Amino acid sequence: MLQFIRAKKAVVGNASIWDTLNLLPKEAVPNSYMERGIREDLGIHHTVVNDWERGVDVDQTVVLISVPSVLSQDLAPHGKHILHACTPGTEPFELWDVLDRRSSEYKKLKSERSEVLWRAVERALGPGFSRDNCEVKLVGTPLTHQRFLRRNRGTYGPAIQIGKDSFVGHSTPIPQLYCCGDSTLPGIGVPAVGASGAIVANSLVPISQHSQLLDAIGI
Ligand SMILES: Cc1cc2nc3c(=O)[nH]c(=O)nc-3n(C[C@H](O)[C@H](O)[C@H](O)COP(=O)(O)OP(=O)(O)OC[C@H]3O[C@@H](n4cnc5c(N)ncnc54)[C@H](O)[C@@H]3O)c2cc1C
Repeated sequence: MLQFIRAKKAVVGNASIWDTLNLLPKEAVPNSYMERGIREDLGIHHTVVNDWERGVDVDQTVVLISVPSVLSQDLAPHGKHILHACTPGTEPFELWDVLDRRSSEYKKLKSERSEVLWRAVERALGPGFSRDNCEVKLVGTPLTHQRFLRRNRGTYGPAIQIGKDSFVGHSTPIPQLYCCGDSTLPGIGVPAVGASGAIVANSLVPISQHSQLLDAIGI
């Protein structure tokens, strides 16, 4: 039920100024105030959790945002930013697998499913951000990952549950065929895949060479 409370002196909100502005009717706030630009203390990484009750591993709930131009200003023209927003591997492939990427259904679903990203960016960056002012917008889907990155089912990597399963090792049933990368131990992420390559490289050389390397780096 809608309740009206009349404030005699003032209304003081403890939500951030950006969240507060999002609660107000657009016409209540002058454009000049809304368009003061992206705040100068903008951080590089932001995590938006829309609903803690649903958990963080369900679709359309968690959005990760990175703004690399905060640290490397030459990544974007002066006065502009570049950002990446994604859901953390929670998008069901089944939704996309049945669609032709040239179809209108695909475009419609893309627009619907990316709304959560736009809203999260608006929330994290505040009223200085407007999606209408974005000069380049590129929305990807699991099919995009599958097509351009050659990722099986568009995946970010295997979803291994702690205590229930583990990443596979590097040897295969075929002698001298090894696998490394994020589908293998120790798992997903640039440092981990680097380590998996190093593990395989180490497996391919004799112990004497391991000792030589340890001597060379002084261990
Ligand atoms: C959106 C997103 C954000 C991420 N953020 C981070 C982060 O902040 N920090 C972090 O550490 N990690 C992050 N990761 C994870 C990290 O990027 C990956 O775990 C890592 O890049 C995987 O490396 P890889 O070499 O195992 O696989 P890939 O980089 O996928 O390399 C596999 C290569 O094999 C090629 N290939 C596949 N099939 C064939 C074929 N038949 N013939 C020839 N080539 C083929 C593919 O084209 C691809 O180039 C992120 C991943 C995503 C998707």
